[in-house]
Amino acid sequence: MQHDRKTHSPRIAIIGAGMAGISCAHALQQRDFAVTLFDKSRGIGGRLATRRIEGGDSFDHGAQYITTRSADFSALIDRLRHDGAADEWQPRLGTDGAHHPWFVGTPGMSALLKPLAEKLDIRLSTTVSTLERSGNAWQLQTADGALFESFDVVISTAPPVQTRALFADDTLMQTSLDAVRMAPCWTLMITFAAPLAVDFDARRFDTGAISWLARQASRPEHGGSRHAWVVHAGAEWSAEHLELTPEQAAGAMQRELARAVGQALPDTIVAQAHRWRYAMTTQALGQPFLTNTDRSLFAGGDWCLGASVECAYRSGVAIAEAVSKRLRTD
Ligand SMILES: Cc1cc2nc3c(=O)[nH]c(=O)nc-3n(C[C@H](O)[C@H](O)[C@H](O)COP(=O)(O)OP(=O)(O)OC[C@H]3O[C@@H](n4cnc5c(N)ncnc54)[C@H](O)[C@@H]3O)c2cc1C
Repeated sequence: MQHDRKTHSPRIAIIGAGMAGISCAHALQQRDFAVTLFDKSRGIGGRLATRRIEGGDSFDHGAQYITTRSADFSALIDRLRHDGAADEWQPRLGTDGAHHPWFVGTPGMSALLKPLAEKLDIRLSTTVSTLERSGNAWQLQTADGALFESFDVVISTAPPVQTRALFADDTLMQTSLDAVRMAPCWTLMITFAAPLAVDFDARRFDTGAISWLARQASRPEHGGSRHAWVVHAGAEWSAEHLELTPEQAAGAMQRELARAVGQALPDTIVAQAHRWRYAMTTQALGQPFLTNTDRSLFAGGDWCLGASVECAYRSGVAIAEAVSKRLRTD
């Protein structure tokens, strides 16, 4: 394929506006490539998620905090802190143990990627349902026909099961995607009418149905009620109860929470459950991305390298580098 950039700029589509998709788009944009992002949600962030519930409380119900290991990712978080989109979270912990500093988005996790997304072309509420080869290009389509556009390169950062469905024609990529495993997580967003009698802001539980409990008001700039908490169920419990309705899950998780903290819970003002069907990678791909033989399709996300926001970032920038290399040498 010829890419005389004077007459034909390559068109690049990215499916997913979470950390992987946005860091990939941002890196490509810095190399002067035009990119269009599509996300099925109404906002950006993916699992970097914040939900506001009636009554004013907001809950960070997906990723809880970010740790930085590489110098590159650390520099990004420093920049986001400088832009007012991130800060360090120092909760009183219910369990001992040293850890890397924890960073969170401000005023919530979903705000974290906003500075990177500012100049990007992002189409929200757009679920890409089909990808069809048309000559050297790929046609992206939505089920309702509202989207029907052609791109030279398509990058999917959707979870492996969803990417697999989109890349239905590529059996080689499908085989690799089949090896990846992700565990679900039921999350409960709950506001009590009175304090929960515990002496911590965040606690991990190693046994039982509940795996994590975090007081929302302890997070920087979070505000809202002092009695709002996010509760995560463990992977095993979440898998066993995956098909409960959110109402059933909210009830069951309150009973499990009472057991975990060893006390009857105060009256609740709000209790809403959210199911993350693909929450945490349990078996990673083991390389930063997948691509097809002519390198017109790429797949990436946290699931390539592990179960963290930093893994998603590393996958996104590795794809940007590979795409840029391919388009500049074509
Ligand atoms: C409950 C929970 C707790 C977690 N805790 C932590 C933590 O404390 N620390 C940590 O580092 N990580 C944590 N993680 C993991 C972290 O959130 C992820 O590693 C990271 O956010 C993944 O980013 P991503 O861009 O790869 O994927 P995502 O954020 O999942 O982005 C993928 C995007 O693709 C979109 N999409 C999917 N299919 C389509 C389609 N067909 N068309 C259009 N758009 C589509 C989705 O809407 C989504 O926005 C947690 C995750 C969960 C769920």
